[in-house]
Amino acid sequence: MDQPYGYRQRELVEPDWRRLPGWRDVTEADWESPQWQRAHCVKNVKGLRSVFGDLLDDRFYADLERDQSERATMSILVPPQMINTMVPGGVPSTDAIYADPVRRYMLPVFSDRDPDWPSHPRSSRDSLHEAEMWAVEGLTHRYPTKVLAELLPTCPQYCGHCTRMDLVGNSTPQVDKHKFTLKPVDRLGAMIDYLRRNPGIRDVVVSGGDVGNMPWPRLEAFVDRLLEIDNIRDLRLATKALMGLPQHWLQDDVRHGMERLAGIARTRGVSIAIHTHINSVQSVTPLVARAARAMLETGIRDVRNQGVLLRGVNASQEDLLDLCFALQDEASILPYYFYMCDMIPGSEHWRVAVHEAQALQHAIMGYLPGFATPRIVCDVPYVGKRWVHQLDSYDRVRGISYWTKNYRTSVEADDADALNRLYDYYDPIRSLPADGQAWWREHTGRPGYDAVAAQRSRDAAAALVT
Ligand code: SF4
Repeated sequence: MDQPYGYRQRELVEPDWRRLPGWRDVTEADWESPQWQRAHCVKNVKGLRSVFGDLLDDRFYADLERDQSERATMSILVPPQMINTMVPGGVPSTDAIYADPVRRYMLPVFSDRDPDWPSHPRSSRDSLHEAEMWAVEGLTHRYPTKVLAELLPTCPQYCGHCTRMDLVGNSTPQVDKHKFTLKPVDRLGAMIDYLRRNPGIRDVVVSGGDVGNMPWPRLEAFVDRLLEIDNIRDLRLATKALMGLPQHWLQDDVRHGMERLAGIARTRGVSIAIHTHINSVQSVTPLVARAARAMLETGIRDVRNQGVLLRGVNASQEDLLDLCFALQDEASILPYYFYMCDMIPGSEHWRVAVHEAQALQHAIMGYLPGFATPRIVCDVPYVGKRWVHQLDSYDRVRGISYWTKNYRTSVEADDADALNRLYDYYDPIRSLPADGQAWWREHTGRPGYDAVAAQRSRDAAAALVT
C-alpha cells in the first residue's frame, strides 16, 4: 500500500575513512582508538583542508572561515568519526558537502545563515536562562523535582547550534564565553551539598558540556556520590560523544566502571540512563551501535536520544523517521525527544516555526512503536519543555506563540503571577507572512539591523555559493 513514508530496514555501514585524502593510511586500530580520534579532531579550516584537500573548492573553505569570524557562536571541533559521516556514500564534492546534513550543523558556513535575520531580535545568549537559575554554580534548578548539573564547559565536539553557547567551548570572535569561577572540586562539592539539602529533588541530568570529556575516574566518583543521596532516583548522563566519539565509551575502564555504577544503582533502586544527541541517520554507524549496546550490557536502564530539530538537517518526515528507525532497530537507542532549536544568536536558518514542528509531530505518528515515538518539544524560556501542541494561543502573523506552566522555576519563588502568566516564544521571521515580516522590520528595535548591511551580507553569501 502506498504510504507517505515507506519503512525499510537499513544495514548500518561505517563509511570508509580512507576515501578522504588526509586519512588514506589510517589503520582500523588507529580509527578505533579514542586517543587517535581526539588527537586528530578538526579544529580549524587548515585542519579541514588537511583531511579533504583539493576535494573541496576554496570557496567552501573561505565560506567557513568567514562564518567563524563573523557569525559563529561555537569554535570548530569535530572528531574524525563525525567528519567521516559527512557524504558517507562516496568521495565528497563541494556541492555534496554544502548539502550534507551533518556538515550543516557541525560546520556551518556563512552562506548557510539567514542573510536578513541571522538572529531573531529576541534571541539571546543563555536563551533558557539556565545561569539565572543556578542554585549553586553550574546546577540549574528549573523544574520542581529535577536539576541539571553542568559538570564541565567542554565537549569532544562542538555543535554549531549549541544552546549552551554562552558557556560551552572556546570563545569565538563574536562570543566571549563565560567562565565558571569556582574550582571544579568546589563546584561539584557544592552541587552534592545542595542535593543533600533538598530532598524534593529526585532526578539529576549529569551534563556539561559533555560528560565524555570528563576523565572517567572523576565522573565515576561524582556519580558514586550521587548514588549515596537517598532522594536521587534517576540519573541521566548526557553525552553526544556516544555518537561523536563512540570509541570513548568502548574503552575497558569506562565499561567496567559503568558496570560497577549500574550494579550499585540497581541495588538502590536508582535508574541510570545515557542520553545522547543524534540528529541525522548518517551518524548511526556500527561503531555507534556497538557503543550503545556496550553501555546497555553494563546494566544501565536505557540509552535515549534527544535530537534537535534543524532545518536543512532533519526537518522532514522522512529524515526523522529514517533516524528514529535506525536508532531503535539497529542501535538499541530509544528515540525520546526532538527539541526545537533554541533562540540563540545566529540560529535563524536552522529554526523551524512552531506550526511546522506541529506538522512534523503529526507526520511521524503511527509509524514507530508508541514508546519509541519521540515528542517534539519547545523549550520555552522561563517555562521549560512543552509538547509543541500544548501552546495556549498563537499569533501566526507575527510568529508569537504563548505558553503556560504549572510550576515555579527557582527564580519565581515569590512571584504570585508566575502560574497565571503567558510566556512567549518566537517563530523565525523568514517563516512569517509578508505582513508579519513587515511588522518586525517596523517594530524590532533590533540593534544594528540595517537594510544596507543586510543586502551586503546577502550579496556576499550569494558570491560565495556561485
Ligand atoms: S555536545 Fe551538546 S553541549 Fe556540546 S556543543 Fe554539542 S550541543 Fe553543545
